[in-house]
Amino acid sequence: MQQAALAENGANPARATFVGSPMGRRPVLAGRNHPLAIARVATVMELSRLLGWLGDGDFRQSPEATVEQLASFHTRAYLAALRQADATQQVEPTVRERHHIGNFENPVFPGVFRQAALAVGGSILAADLALEGLTPFHPAGGTHHGRPDRASGFCFFNDPVFAIRRLLERGVGRVAHVDLDAHHGDGVEEAFAREPRVRTISVHEAGRWPHSGATPGRGAGDAWNLPVPRGLTDSEFGFLLDEAVLPTVEAFSPGAIVITCGADGLDGDPLAGMQLSNVALWDAVDRVRALAPRAVVLGGGGYNPWTVARCWTGLWGRLSGRTLPETLPDAARNLLASLSCDLIDEDEVRADWISTLADEPRHGRIRPDVRELAGAFGRD
Ligand SMILES: [Zn+2]
Repeated sequence: MQQAALAENGANPARATFVGSPMGRRPVLAGRNHPLAIARVATVMELSRLLGWLGDGDFRQSPEATVEQLASFHTRAYLAALRQADATQQVEPTVRERHHIGNFENPVFPGVFRQAALAVGGSILAADLALEGLTPFHPAGGTHHGRPDRASGFCFFNDPVFAIRRLLERGVGRVAHVDLDAHHGDGVEEAFAREPRVRTISVHEAGRWPHSGATPGRGAGDAWNLPVPRGLTDSEFGFLLDEAVLPTVEAFSPGAIVITCGADGLDGDPLAGMQLSNVALWDAVDRVRALAPRAVVLGGGGYNPWTVARCWTGLWGRLSGRTLPETLPDAARNLLASLSCDLIDEDEVRADWISTLADEPRHGRIRPDVRELAGAFGRD
C-alpha cells in the first residue's frame, strides 16, 4: 500500500462518489405502520438530482453482494432463512425466534434480501473507491446493528463490517469506525471486539435502545463509547468531538475511517432525543475524515423524512464540493412538501424543513454532565 504517499497528498481526496441504487420513491414498507415506511435514500437522490448534484460522473451503482461474500460474516443458516422468508413472505416461529426476522423490529417485505445485499455490496464498493483515492458516500449503508446470525434494529446485514473488512483485506493497517448515529453501533463493536486493527467509536444517546455502550470510554477490545444525554446541542457535540472523539481517532493513526452518519441525532427525529443541526453533523464528518488518508461515509438511521433528506443531501453537497443554496428552488421545495410520515403530525412539519437545506445552529451552554462525560471517556 502507498499509505505514506497518499497521506502526503492531503487528508481529503478531492472527488466524491455517490454509491447507491436507483429505486422508486415508494418506500419498501409503504402503507405499513413502521418507522421505515418513509422514502429516505430515494428522496436524497431525487433532491440531489434536482439541485444538479447527481450527474453520471457522480454516481456508482451498488452491486449486490454475493452469497459467498455475505457468508464471510453472516451464517449460511441465516442467509438461507432470510432468502426463504423473502420468497414466501412468511416466517416460521422457530425462524423468527432464531434469526429475529418477521417481527415488528425487522419486518420482512418483498425484496428484503436483495435490498440488504445491495447495502453490503455498496459498502464493499465504497471501500474499494476509498482505496482508489475517492470519497464514497453510501447513504443506504450504515446498518450497524446486524449480527452474523440475526437481524437487529431494522438491520438485516451489517454493511459497515464489510467495508471495514475490505479495507483491512486490501492492506490498510488500521481502520477506525466512527458512528454518529443516535443509537449505539453494537453490531460493529461486537464484530471487531477481538480485532486490534479496528477501533470503534460510537456517539449515541444514553438510555436508548439497544441500551449497550452505556459506559463512557473504552469497553471490550478497542471499542470506545460516548453515551450522551438527551437534548445534546451542536455546542455540546462540538465539545465532545474536540475533547473525546477526535483525539481518540487521531491517537489510533488509522489508515482509513468508516463513518456511519445516521441522521437520527438531528432535532426533530421521532425515535431519538438529540437536538443536533445537520450542519453540526456535516462539520463532524469533515473533521473526522480529515484524520485519515481514506474515508468511507455511510448513512444509518433517521426517521423524519424531511430532516433525513436534507441532512444526507447537504452532506453529499459538502463532500462533492457543491455550494449549498440559502433557500431551495421550487422543484426541491415541492419534493419536500410531498413527503409524509405517520410519526410526525402535519402541524409539526417546520417551514424550514421545506424551504432550506441547512439548519440553523443549535447553540447552548455545555452542561456539567457533558463535561464529565468527556473526562470519563479519556480514562482508560
Ligand atoms: Zn439509529
